[in-house]
Amino acid sequence: MVDLVSQYQHIKKEVDVAILNVIESAQFINGLEVSGFKSELETYLNVSNVIPCANGTDALQIALMALDLKPGDEIITPSFTYIATTEVMALLGLKPIFIEVDPETFCIDYTKIEAVITSKTKAIVPVHLYGQAAPMNEIMEIANRHNLFVIEDNAQAIGCNYTLSNGETVKTGTIGHIGCTSFFPSKNLGCFGDGGAIFTNDTALAVKIKMIANHGQSKQYHHDLVGCNSRLDNIQAAVLRIKLKQLDNYNNSRNKVAEYYDNFFEKHPQIITPKRALNSTHVYHQYTLKLENLNRNELRAFLTEREVPSMIYYPIPAHRQKMFESFGSADTFLPVTDKLTECVISLPIHTEMTEEQLEKICVTIEEFINK
Ligand SMILES: *Cc1c(COP(=O)(O)O)cnc(C)c1O
Repeated sequence: MVDLVSQYQHIKKEVDVAILNVIESAQFINGLEVSGFKSELETYLNVSNVIPCANGTDALQIALMALDLKPGDEIITPSFTYIATTEVMALLGLKPIFIEVDPETFCIDYTKIEAVITSKTKAIVPVHLYGQAAPMNEIMEIANRHNLFVIEDNAQAIGCNYTLSNGETVKTGTIGHIGCTSFFPSKNLGCFGDGGAIFTNDTALAVKIKMIANHGQSKQYHHDLVGCNSRLDNIQAAVLRIKLKQLDNYNNSRNKVAEYYDNFFEKHPQIITPKRALNSTHVYHQYTLKLENLNRNELRAFLTEREVPSMIYYPIPAHRQKMFESFGSADTFLPVTDKLTECVISLPIHTEMTEEQLEKICVTIEEFINK
């Protein structure tokens, strides 16, 4: 699905030197690479605060911890997402309220938000799924009207641009009160292990988030809040500084792959190519098709036999996961989400794909259709 080995070969010289420098300095935690990466990412995103942390799940957890919520408070979120988005809510004693996604863009269906707002609702957590933005203009308008926080799960969309109602174009993750991302190796900006970051333009929230990620510490040995220990290490930051310079190129390469697939599948009515969301660019973390009248299991078996990788993101929606059994969420009526979990299939997409690989993948799928 990705080719991180070839990607590394292109930046190997620079990366090897940077990693060796960290090792020789023996500055593994909170070193110059972390502070350098933090400020370079702030510049790239045009956001006043980036707080690096250990992974994307921690980023989401810390963001929620910064909001002073009470057990039982409700958070509105899509069910069609990676489990981390909603797991952290349950971990903190908060209640995820699962709603539908738009069947065309796979992002939260904002028209379903207001119907589930109660006196306990405190926040909305939209996910910029597969690499394009949720409808943030509408979400922010609803959030402002109901005095709700918005935390963007930007783990799949770093580098994505969104056009606000006032015409200004900004990066996703910087629109809500807090944005969260992951630097898991296969993400669009990935490190060589685990990593994550939290973004905010709110100074008071930034101070609090920084404290929470560092044992609730205000100054050394003064712990004012119950926090956690969540750090990005200096080796990962060194890698990320080099890859951040390539991020726009990487995202362009992904767009070229998507364009190839789009063009190829145009003539096949059983294959529905991904639709572009309004006001958003796409960074194609995933290229996800919907199948119509094609057996997904059979297609996957056919592809596997011919050494073409494919994945299902996600086969079980969050509201049907056992971990949420006590919330009774499996009774939530989410037909769009359920349908998507049965018909989506993601194809390989990454920065190193060759025309030959693309052709092989497409021709193999076509062979299956014509079988
Ligand atoms: C990857 C991902 C996360 C979690 O990131 P980790 O770094 O793996 O903890 C959260 N949300 C979404 C949508 C993701 O894709």
